[in-house]
Amino acid sequence: MYRPALLITRFLKPLSSHRAMSTRTIGFLGFGNMGSHMATNLMKNGYNLMLYDVSEANTARAKQLGATILSSPKEVSQNTDIVITMLPAGKHVYHAYLEKDGLFEGARKDSIFVDCTTCEPTVSRRMADEAAKVSAIYLDSPVSGGVGSARDARLTFMVGGPVNGLDKIRHLLNIMGKNVIHCGDVGMGEAAKICNNMMLGIAMIGTSEAMSLGIALGIDPKKLASVLNVSSGRSWCSDTYNPCPGVIESVPSSNDYKGGFATGLMKKDLALAQNISSELDLSTPLGASSLHIYRLLCKKGYEHKDFSYIFKFLQE
Ligand code: NAD
Repeated sequence: MYRPALLITRFLKPLSSHRAMSTRTIGFLGFGNMGSHMATNLMKNGYNLMLYDVSEANTARAKQLGATILSSPKEVSQNTDIVITMLPAGKHVYHAYLEKDGLFEGARKDSIFVDCTTCEPTVSRRMADEAAKVSAIYLDSPVSGGVGSARDARLTFMVGGPVNGLDKIRHLLNIMGKNVIHCGDVGMGEAAKICNNMMLGIAMIGTSEAMSLGIALGIDPKKLASVLNVSSGRSWCSDTYNPCPGVIESVPSSNDYKGGFATGLMKKDLALAQNISSELDLSTPLGASSLHIYRLLCKKGYEHKDFSYIFKFLQE
């Protein structure tokens, strides 16, 4: 079993109350494909957002939608008691939280940091450790559901860290999603997310192979999907995020594979799964093969395409 090296939550000073924090101003970092929808849903529900993003284009969009733009992560944490981060990967989390003018430099006492990035559980535990040094709480809270679920507030949040911290921000997660699951100590949200995405990466390749084979056999792709979706081959990849253009209009495959979940991010998640599998001497052969396939896609220049581009790639 994968166990955290340091169960930091044991040493965290409990907050004085388990009630939800009533602040209407939330700090937010990462106005990207997912974060922009999550942040917008908070604003639609009456929350003021203090936002920081390294991308000028994304910052401009956030400003247009009503967020207040600040000039560093430190300024965000100086001005808010709850900060949500939605960044690409672990190295960005390190940068935003720990480097000069980072979040922990400005952290208020008893503030809560909620990181929704998919990254290594070891990064989460390090951040929780650093948060404790400034009398703050850190929760890892990666999400599942894709851009459509982020837009429609139907995400699943997998939370690691102290329950009294979660209780203070649960109302915010409920605005952005429909499932909030406490997975255990800090890092366990990430553990659950890495397992989920290894399955997802494998399933998307399987679905793409089946759709390609069906088309080669002459069956209409919509008809094939309608069969799969009430049969034993069904999965989220076939019924909600089908990789074949035109089968579902609102997903990236029908929009030239733009937006969505970048192939580069799927490669990152499969690499996380493989690194941990190696560390634990565990065999995850289909996870390993999937990583090779997504890595190849990235090498061919498709890193920014949605990961369902694997369907097109198989036909090249
Ligand atoms: P994205 O690249 O679209 O967005 C990331 C945002 O973070 C960008 O706006 C970027 O400019 C900003 N950023 C980067 N470094 C920063 C820093 N130091 N400070 C402030 N802002 C910074 O990524 P995304 O698709 O929104 O994914 C975010 C995370 O969610 C990833 O970890 C991904 O694996 C995970 N995820 C994505 C999806 C999906 O469908 N896209 C689904 C579930 C989980």
